Amino acid sequence: MTAWSEEADRLKGAWRLQLRVERVLHQEKTEHQDLLLFENPLFGRVLALDGIVQTTERDEFFYHEMLVHVPVLAHGAVERALIVGGGDGGALEELLKHDRLRAATLVEIDQAVIDFSKAHLQAICGQAFDDPRLELVIADGLAWVAEQRGRRAPFDLILIDSTDPVGPGEVLFSESFYADCAGLLAEGGLLVTQNAVPFTEPDSLAKPLAALGRSFAATACYRVAVPSFFGGDMVFAMASQDAAALTVEAAALERRFAEAGIETRYYTPAVHQGAFALPPYVAALLEA
Ligand code: SAM
Repeated sequence: MTAWSEEADRLKGAWRLQLRVERVLHQEKTEHQDLLLFENPLFGRVLALDGIVQTTERDEFFYHEMLVHVPVLAHGAVERALIVGGGDGGALEELLKHDRLRAATLVEIDQAVIDFSKAHLQAICGQAFDDPRLELVIADGLAWVAEQRGRRAPFDLILIDSTDPVGPGEVLFSESFYADCAGLLAEGGLLVTQNAVPFTEPDSLAKPLAALGRSFAATACYRVAVPSFFGGDMVFAMASQDAAALTVEAAALERRFAEAGIETRYYTPAVHQGAFALPPYVAALLEA
């Protein structure tokens, strides 16, 4: 009999998404969440946490390249970066492609996600967890960030690569968390956070964006349609205390991308710039 994994709409009960499970590779109830890894004929290996698809082998580059290269190349001189969440290692792997980066700290609540990603998701994390530039911390991101102010050199970039705002990831969408992150950023530093799919989860965009706006002088949103995320475009929010840091001239972006010498399958400077054009239904959510 054919087996299916199902992701259901948690808000309105309006839809269910099924993916064929060719083979279950790993299933575990960790201290923090239910973890499932299976193979699907279209997406390859699929990671689901608490029943929600997080990333897949075949389309992870849409999400991870846009999460990482947009702010790294908008900033132009990222040397120290923090990732909160991101236990699959996909964001870390993209970040470490930038030779200019000297230090990356990854704060993940669930050691089990890292262990099994290293074992089963090499296509996503590569050798990123062995890189000498990495400082790996197993902790709740909210608590860890709150304790760091004044205790370490500021970060040029903070990436919040969290699960959705339910379960352990909920605190990573809170106002106090954003305020503590703001305190850890260097001058001209950038923060990027994932804000789910606004068509299906409008509150996951509007509420965190309002909270972000209370801790940062400027915010801007950009989009990417990730095939395994149901409902169309998902949105990343970028924030800074320096409004000018959020935009970059096309020529500078082209130059920085060429100098970085990285190979990408989704990101280009033109895609970067176009992603900031928001359809009116998304812009309206931000104004509400
Ligand atoms: N690409 C994904 C998506 O769909 O948005 C997110 C990737 S990543 C797997 C999300 C990670 O955030 C998980 O490994 C989860 O354990 C971690 N996480 C959730 N809550 C956290 C918290 N409070 N502190 C640190 N990490 C957290």
